[in-house]
Amino acid sequence: ALLDRSARTFIAGHRGLVGGAVLRHFEDAGFTSLVTRSSSELDLRDASAVESFFAGERPATVVMAAAKVGGILANSTYPADFISDNLRMQVNVLDAAARHGTTHLLFLGSSCIYPKLAPQPIREDSLLTGPLEETNDAYAIAKISGVLQVQALRRQHGVHYISAMPTNLYGPGDNFHPENSHVLPGLIRRFHEAKLADAPEVVVWGTGTPLREFLHVDDLARACLFLLENYDDPAPINVGVGADLSIRELAQMVADIVGYDGALELDTTKPDGTPRKLLDVSKLHGLGWRAEIDLRDGLEQTYAWYQSQLAEGS
Ligand code: GDP
Repeated sequence: ALLDRSARTFIAGHRGLVGGAVLRHFEDAGFTSLVTRSSSELDLRDASAVESFFAGERPATVVMAAAKVGGILANSTYPADFISDNLRMQVNVLDAAARHGTTHLLFLGSSCIYPKLAPQPIREDSLLTGPLEETNDAYAIAKISGVLQVQALRRQHGVHYISAMPTNLYGPGDNFHPENSHVLPGLIRRFHEAKLADAPEVVVWGTGTPLREFLHVDDLARACLFLLENYDDPAPINVGVGADLSIRELAQMVADIVGYDGALELDTTKPDGTPRKLLDVSKLHGLGWRAEIDLRDGLEQTYAWYQSQLAEGS
C-alpha cells in the first residue's frame, strides 16, 4: 500500500551514507513531513532521549538507517563498540516506534548477517544456518538481533515492520577514512592521493581474490521506499545487483577512473574477510524491482563527488 506522504516520517541516520540518500529520495518522492535529528541532537543509544523524541513526534513511518558502520579493519578493531552501539540504537528506536504508533518501519541490516560459507548467491533463508565471518561477527549479531526484533514486534503488535539486507554500498556521502572505511572509499582515496603524489604503487589489502557485490546507495534508497510500499513480510529481503567482482578487478576499475597508472601492491597481512558474499536477489526481482546504476557509472559519479568535497575543503 502507498505510504501517506504527508505523515511524519523519521529518517534515522540522515547524516550517513544510507540515511542521506533515503532523505534525498523521499524528498523527491513528495514526502512533506520528514523528520531528522543529528546524533548531537538525539543520541539514539540513549533510551530515555529516544523515548521522549518518539512521544513528541509520533512518526507514522520510520526508516532505521542509523548504525555504527565501518570496514573490515574498524569492525575487527572495535567489536565492542559495534555490538553495543548498534544493539542499543536498534532496541531503542524499534521499541519506541512500536510504543508510539509508528505503523511502518524499515530496518536496514547487512549482507554480513549471513553465514561465512553460505551457498552463493546467498538466499534469505540461509540466515542462522552456520557460523559467521569472524572479522565482523559482533556487528552481524547486532543486525541479526534487529531482524528478530522486527519479527517479534510484528507477531506481538501487528505492526508493518520489515527488514532489508543491502549488499556492500557506495556513493556520495560515504566515509573516506583511510583505515576505517569500506573498500571502495578507501581505494578511491588511496588511488587519488597516489595520483597526486605520483606514487609508483598503491597498496590494496588482502589477496585481491575476495569477491564483492556493490550497490549504489541511490538505488538502495529507491528500494527502501519500494519495499515499504510493496513488501510486508517478516522475512528479511536482500537488496543487491546480482553480480560481483574480485577486489583486484575493483581496484583496477578504481585506478582507471581516477587515472592512476602505477602498480597495485597486495598487502596480504591485511584480512580478506569472507571469500564471497553475493546476494540472491530473486525475491526482490520477483516483486518487480531492479537496481539501475551501473558500477562504473556509479564510481565515476562518486569519484566526482569526492573531488568536489576536497575542493570545498571539508
Ligand atoms: P567486507 O566486505 O565486510 O569484508 O568489508 P570491506 O569493504 O572493508 O572489505 C572488502 C574487501 O576489500 C576485503 O577483502 C578487504 O581486505 C579488501 N580491501 C582491499 N583494500 C582495502 C581497503 O583499502 N580498505 C578496506 N576496508 N578493504 C580493502
